[in-house]
Amino acid sequence: MLLDAWLKRAGAEHRSVPGVVTDRGTLTWGMLDQDADRVARRLVADELLPGSRIGIVMPPGLEFACALFGVLRAGSIAVPVDPRLGPDDRAVRLAGCHTVLEERASMAHPGAAVRLADEEPTTAIVVHTSGTTSTPTPVELTHANWWWSAAGSAVALGHDPRERWLCAMPLSHVGGLSILIRAMIGGTTAILHPQFDAERIARDLASPDGPTLISVVPTMLARLLDAGLQRPPSLRAAVVGGGPIPPALLERAAAAGVRCVTTYGMTEACSQITTGGPPLFCTRVRIAPDGEILVRSPTVAPGAVAEDGWLHTGDLGHLDEEGTLHVTGRAADTIITGGENVAPAEVEAALETHPAVAEAAVHARPDDEWGEAVIATVVLRDGMRVDPDELRAHVRARLAPFKVPKAITFAAALPRTPSGKLLRRDL
Ligand code: ATP
Ligand code: MG
Repeated sequence: MLLDAWLKRAGAEHRSVPGVVTDRGTLTWGMLDQDADRVARRLVADELLPGSRIGIVMPPGLEFACALFGVLRAGSIAVPVDPRLGPDDRAVRLAGCHTVLEERASMAHPGAAVRLADEEPTTAIVVHTSGTTSTPTPVELTHANWWWSAAGSAVALGHDPRERWLCAMPLSHVGGLSILIRAMIGGTTAILHPQFDAERIARDLASPDGPTLISVVPTMLARLLDAGLQRPPSLRAAVVGGGPIPPALLERAAAAGVRCVTTYGMTEACSQITTGGPPLFCTRVRIAPDGEILVRSPTVAPGAVAEDGWLHTGDLGHLDEEGTLHVTGRAADTIITGGENVAPAEVEAALETHPAVAEAAVHARPDDEWGEAVIATVVLRDGMRVDPDELRAHVRARLAPFKVPKAITFAAALPRTPSGKLLRRDL
């Protein structure tokens, strides 16, 4: 079924439910349904061909939602692009787009009738990967991919008809966008923040009628805890994923009364692959002999499926007896030092158990003796100091000797993508 059918359903059955909530106002599903008509009419008046790609270059907000839903209503393919990107990066992502909707542009409305595409388009939305390993790749996610992803998430997390899911991630990223699509399919509420502001979110979460779910990458969770987040009254869970999750962070969250559900996902699988431990009900995970995580699921973009029928994630991990997937890191990030393999995330997690360490990034440096040497960049907590040798001793007490960083440098911040993911290659 096309995603637009769910918008029509939300417009009819959840007419007065807030669909998108922002600090600039709220639109109910009834209003969003009408706005989608308006945007679609304008697109059709622009002599749009069925199946055309429409770039959406807008910050998270009401206009973004109207533009996205209008594009889907017109039977077109949406290509959301982060408006903070420079002109060159934008141009690469928007190549092949028929039209680009920018802020305010979607609000004008000539009145042609909506003519649906003769053939149902398979692709609904093109989402770019984060570009952590190299340049971002466009992933063509189908209408069915989004539906299965929403269904899988609802089964894993439980479906609350009064869900209010806070999104503080870019809507050009699958983690953010999937919150909006899930709200549309479920007729529930997406709360969109223009950016991640820890103090503001901690305040929102302290309210008794605050969000019921929030999606965060691990650093965002750490910042929320730093901002004093404690026992948020309405929050069912913080859904944490997008990068390695240090066990110490989850312990800290538990001590603050913040219930966390961990998730592993990627753009090519339309966000979640595992949530709360095991794979989504519609998803199968297998570990290849070399340790690579393989995924087979109706959530996987057809173009990302290899000839053997599986998505090769490039990530390493293992499944335990209970069927819980443990992700150890990206195969490409593995450091080979003196013939031993080191997963940077494990060393980062060990460093982050030191009370002076706010965050750590571990990477390789070419080394004559070891082939590659393990190196760490560490950000200290405000006002804290520690000697590199003390940190090395701290790791040595926890991990095998070859995993101990040969050198540790300090930095004010770590390089990250707009969605908060560590850019290890920029270290
Ligand atoms: P690119 O593919 O352009 O290099 P990217 O892989 O970072 O960028 P995304 O699709 O946003 O782009 O991220 C998916 C990746 O994030 C996964 O392949 C995995 O490496 C990492 N990841 C996601 N969740 C987790 C998790 N819970 N633990 C460890 N790593 C995770
Ligand atoms: Mg990737």
